[in-house]
This record gives sequence, C-alpha cells and structure tokens, in this order.
Amino acid sequence: MRNPRSYTDCEELARTRKRKLGHNTYLEVPEIDGDPFAIRFHATRIVTFYSDGRVVLNSGGWLSSTTKERMNRYLPVGAGYISQDRGEWGVGHWRFYDGITYDPAVGDWIPEQDGENPRHLRREVREYASRFLDALRAGDVPLPSGGDCWLCALEAQDGSSWGESSRDREHILSHIREDYFVPSLLVRAVRRYANAPAYEHAIFAAMGHPEARFSFSLDGFIGETVERAISRWCYHCLGLVDGW
Ligand SMILES: [Zn+2]
Repeated sequence: MRNPRSYTDCEELARTRKRKLGHNTYLEVPEIDGDPFAIRFHATRIVTFYSDGRVVLNSGGWLSSTTKERMNRYLPVGAGYISQDRGEWGVGHWRFYDGITYDPAVGDWIPEQDGENPRHLRREVREYASRFLDALRAGDVPLPSGGDCWLCALEAQDGSSWGESSRDREHILSHIREDYFVPSLLVRAVRRYANAPAYEHAIFAAMGHPEARFSFSLDGFIGETVERAISRWCYHCLGLVDGW
C-alpha cells in the first residue's frame, strides 16, 4: 500500500497487520475508535491524523533532513511539502512550527499567529510593495526620521528592528492596510534584501537625500528589486515563507 496521507488511509492500513512503515517509522493505531492515528518516527509522533481530517505536525525538536523527509511522505494530498531555507522550515506558504495544523475545511495550514489565509496575505503584501514603489517614485516618501513607526525604526542590539525582535506582526499589517509607507521599513528592506550601493543610492535619491547620487533610476530592474525587497521584508516580519 502507498504511504498513508489521511485518517482514512490510516484506517485502511490498520486493517492489515502492517505497522512498520519504514526505518524507525511506525503507524500507531488508537485503542479507541475515533482517536487519532499517528506516524511515529523514533520516539516522536511526527504526523497525527484526526478523524475530522485535521493533520498535525511535530518535529519533537528534531529539525533534521531525515525528519523532514519522513514527514513529507505522509502529508495530506494538496497540502504542499516541507521546505528548508537557511535552517528554517516552511510548509506550504507558512513558517513551520511544532503543532502546525492542516485543516482540510480551509484547505490550508493554519499559521501560528492567526487564521489568515496566506495566499491573500501574500497578495496584500505584493500590492503594498507596488504602491510603496509608486509613492517612492512620485517623491511622496520622505527620509527616515524620528516620526517613523518605532517598531520599524528602532534597532535592538543585534541590529534587528524592534518589531522584528519582538515578533510584532501587527504594525506591519497596519502599515499594509493603511498605506503607510514607512521610510525606515524601506531602508531596512533594501539593506537586508537588496544590499548593493545602487539600490541604496536609488532610494535615498528618491527620498530627497541631498547627497544621494541621481544616476540610479527606480525604473526597470532597480525598481523591481526594491519592490521585491519590500515584499520579502514584509513576508519575513509576518512569518511567511520567503519567495516572490
Ligand atoms: Zn512599523
């Protein structure tokens, strides 16, 4: 039989005597009907299947490529796969956390913070980034100042922003929804994700810095890269997986 990827698959498999699914990998069958099935890898129940269709993931703290590979074998169809980027796991569009739950009624994973739809949120971010660039080109974004959102502007000792180090998503969501084009957010985004002098010169020139060189236009590739950097910064602050 193929790998079980749902409660129904587990029920079907449980009717056979087969419990060992692979190296150190077992199907745990509930003693009481209706209780969840689990895939156990070593001592950890890495995937738990509930009778209402929900699927819960747990690494047990072992964020290794073997755990990831093993989990991926049993993810629900249509739920995407676990990916890894610089030591951080993502699943579907979301950042992975132990206990992350796939809800078939929603057709998606439920993020740690709330029940927002990641596809909608990503679109909101991209549209915000595009309007941000338009405002910047039009000369409507001033230089960073003490009047900027504090969570965007102020820096913790390790160089991260206050919002970043306190994992505050709300200010980012409000900037997106209120079309507040925070100058400090732009500078941070560009320094993190478009870290070359041309981009910095281009944005400071557009913000009216008297010493910025005007040889870098925000049209074409430079503008696209700046826009993308804004999106990536927002994804990062909102706990979304990086990507365009
Ligand atoms: Zn802010």
